[in-house]
Amino acid sequence: MAERIETDAVVLGAGTAGANAALQLASRGLRVVLLERRELSAGGAQWHNAVLEWQFRRAGLEPPGETAGTAVTHMFGPGGERGVSLPDPPTVKADMVALGHRLRSLAAEAGVEMFERCKAVRVELDGVRPVALRTEATPVSGGRSDEPPEAASRRMDLRAPLFVDASGLHGALRRQVPSLHHWCPPVRGNELCTATDQTHEVRDPDGALRFLRDHGARPGDGVSILGTNGGFSTRGLTVSSDLTTVSVLVGCLANGRHGTGPAMLAELLEDQPWIGDAIDGGSGVIPLRRTYARISAPGVALVGDSACQVFPAHGSGIGMGLMAGTMLAEAVQGAGDPGAEEVLWDYQYSWHRDFGGALAAFDGFRRMSTALGSAGVAELMGAGLMSEQMARTGLDQLWATPPPGDLPRMAARLARHPRLAARMLPMMARGQVAGRLAGSYPETVDLRALQRWDRRMSAVLGPLPG
Ligand SMILES: Cc1cc2nc3c(=O)[nH]c(=O)nc-3n(C[C@H](O)[C@H](O)[C@H](O)COP(=O)(O)OP(=O)(O)OC[C@H]3O[C@@H](n4cnc5c(N)ncnc54)[C@H](O)[C@@H]3O)c2cc1C
Repeated sequence: MAERIETDAVVLGAGTAGANAALQLASRGLRVVLLERRELSAGGAQWHNAVLEWQFRRAGLEPPGETAGTAVTHMFGPGGERGVSLPDPPTVKADMVALGHRLRSLAAEAGVEMFERCKAVRVELDGVRPVALRTEATPVSGGRSDEPPEAASRRMDLRAPLFVDASGLHGALRRQVPSLHHWCPPVRGNELCTATDQTHEVRDPDGALRFLRDHGARPGDGVSILGTNGGFSTRGLTVSSDLTTVSVLVGCLANGRHGTGPAMLAELLEDQPWIGDAIDGGSGVIPLRRTYARISAPGVALVGDSACQVFPAHGSGIGMGLMAGTMLAEAVQGAGDPGAEEVLWDYQYSWHRDFGGALAAFDGFRRMSTALGSAGVAELMGAGLMSEQMARTGLDQLWATPPPGDLPRMAARLARHPRLAARMLPMMARGQVAGRLAGSYPETVDLRALQRWDRRMSAVLGPLPG
């Protein structure tokens, strides 16, 4: 017999987005159950990710303490074309394992009940609304599964007014809610990034110094070579200041035409024999499309990769997922029914108003880099069209129009590259319009208006480049 548990919210997935959603909901007085399919300590990203302090602050969290910033980021085209060098880039590298532990420990202190190795998740609907979730899972105390297991697994029938899908790309909960199927199609091919992020020992410091010198860089700087495997792709290396380690990030579209993250890493290791054994890291796929128009329905809300709350120009989802969990908790705070449609609409409205525009605009940018291909990215870099301001706003995940002073310089450069201009300008204009359109997201529950808004957004962004 399954044990019946009444609670206020059930969060599925204990990666960074789910752990923070659980923490924020519990901090606002809700009883919360957090479920993870793996061991709790293995939930979410397990490597070092580039994150932004402003996003932690917006999420109501202290930025990670043990971070490493990059002194200067140097960007290149695929054939070595020198792009821009960016001093003091806004991102810092943070240990995701430590962040996961911190969020889950804080959530446990706030009273969140946690379970790991959850399997056979089945959602029960009452009409369109989820009302219960059945699963079998093992309880964990204090948010740490590295302590001895306290009990055997339990079969549970969890009843709650709110279910949160934080299970990542595949949306294990979302897929069981028919009213979301139309709005949340699976993400595929040209909208998916395959990536690998690893830290390696430096086997040969002289080799590392030669690589840095060839790229006008110093130890502690980042070198990003863009467009190596199709227009949307990167090979990024940051050698530590003491020349002992190098962190490597590679990625391209997962459409089968440009390779995979692991294959790109293997090629890089062959090209750069000074890179030694791996210390830590991992691989995965990241959704790149703009956030789904609808990220809630009665009784259910999506946060993180499950909602496509990822910065599309480079596949960064940690900060976005953290902010989403906090915005969800802010919207439901004090509500009699935290799963009521109008309460959750407030969450999705606030999300699209505050961040949907930047994500849609940069979805336009991602489509542009895909359409340009490797040759176009080489030309873009060689032509000096990637300005420092463009690179900085991209890394800072903020959309900004170029400062008026930059426009004549850009126009002159574009005039010298008419073929490139003809491909870039319409895409950039589409991104600009998409960013503005986010401001007209329907403020109150109105699915017909949302449908019209979503169609307009799709039309503005245009068909996906092949
Ligand atoms: C190689 C690589 C490098 C990256 N680099 C960066 C970076 O530098 N900066 C950045 O911001 N982002 C980066 N990203 C993206 C970032 O890692 C993701 O956007 C982020 O981890 C998404 O968080 P999430 O909590 O939504 O999902 P996830 O991290 O995918 O967590 C989802 C959790 O749900 C669990 N789950 C799944 N199904 C179920 C189920 N049925 N029941 C219970 N639990 C379930 C999973 O086990 C997992 O623990 C990178 C991604 C990759 C792959």
